Amino acid sequence: MMSRRNTLFSVLGLSALTATLTSVVAGLRGPAGASAPGQSPQARSYAFTQTPAEWKQRLKPEAYYVLRQAGTERPGSSPLNREKRTGVFSCAGCALPLFPSATKFESGTGWPSFWQPVAGAVVEDTDTTLLMKRTEVLCGQCGGHLGHVFNDGPPPTRLRYCINGAALTFTVA
Ligand SMILES: [Zn+2]
Repeated sequence: MMSRRNTLFSVLGLSALTATLTSVVAGLRGPAGASAPGQSPQARSYAFTQTPAEWKQRLKPEAYYVLRQAGTERPGSSPLNREKRTGVFSCAGCALPLFPSATKFESGTGWPSFWQPVAGAVVEDTDTTLLMKRTEVLCGQCGGHLGHVFNDGPPPTRLRYCINGAALTFTVA
């Protein structure tokens, strides 16, 4: 059982590495989203899926633009920038809890910022659009685009998850 599990982990590790390399190569070749099926987070199979028409019906226009089209909201535009109550920020697409309020901090960027997601709640991908190499953050349950993560955050992680407020909903604890 143990060795089977270890083998499974190595296979998963290898495929994750392959996926990363493939998305890097795809990024060099052409626009984002041009990677092969099953390789990028966008093309992975997610537990929560909808057709594009269903997403459009389900989401507010700005949430659709961010989550499903990898858009970026205007800085300072989200009311969640000023949200300081105790609670949890969840995915506006599928309601998966993503960031506890205890990990939110004021980054001064105009986007809700966090130093740590709920364990296993988000997945990451390399984003090479806008002539920059950034790490994209996506919802681990529906694959919705949330924002990016940078290495200039506060302790204890020193990470700054720069998240579009339109991709989130807030629930008071
Ligand atoms: Zn989601």
